[in-house]
Amino acid sequence: MSEAQGPRLLIFGKQGAGKGTQCVRLCRHYRVPHISTGDMFRAAVQSGSQLGERLDSYMHAGELIPDDLVIGVVSERLSEEDAARGFVLDGFPRTTAQAEKLSELLAPGDVDLVLSLEVPTEVSLRRLAGRRVCRGCGTNYSVHSPPEQGWECDHCGGEVVLRRDDTEHAIARRLKLYEEQTEPLVSWYQEQEKLVAIDGIGPLDTVTDRLIRAIDRRWPTDQVRSAS
Ligand SMILES: [Zn+2]
Repeated sequence: MSEAQGPRLLIFGKQGAGKGTQCVRLCRHYRVPHISTGDMFRAAVQSGSQLGERLDSYMHAGELIPDDLVIGVVSERLSEEDAARGFVLDGFPRTTAQAEKLSELLAPGDVDLVLSLEVPTEVSLRRLAGRRVCRGCGTNYSVHSPPEQGWECDHCGGEVVLRRDDTEHAIARRLKLYEEQTEPLVSWYQEQEKLVAIDGIGPLDTVTDRLIRAIDRRWPTDQVRSAS
């Protein structure tokens, strides 16, 4: 095992906090895979596998996916070779039962750090309400970065519209649900002194720097450097 290790990170953040973008940047910086349950579930559904069909039935009904199903998907992914040197886990755990299971899966090690990317709810709301999506190919836009011409997609010419689930009411409901769900988890990781809150307001690069500084304070950089 001569290959250098990267950190094992969890990231929490409500929709519109910029979590997706920051995950990609952290993974590039630390050379670890981005393990997003949302992406894995969508891929499974698209593949039409039996697992995908089960997941789809829950997601379609807007229900929470049962712990055992989520844990099964995550533990399989974590057992893949690339995850042995670290990861950024995004979208999991969602419950303390899942968090306990994750610690078991990683034993004798554990998660190195849990990052909570924080933005006020009104900022999240504003960002989400400005989102637009292409009906044809799914490319994301926003009122601040619209397509070149009118509301026609730059890639496929499709109609660029407000996402159906992005009405102000639905967004507010999702954000509230997220907070209710995440609160116990945040305290759980706080008790273990693994949680670090990061201010998610500001230019993307500034937020990335804050994240990297927080990680490097808690996790030895030399190990990352020796990998390059
Ligand atoms: Zn398009």
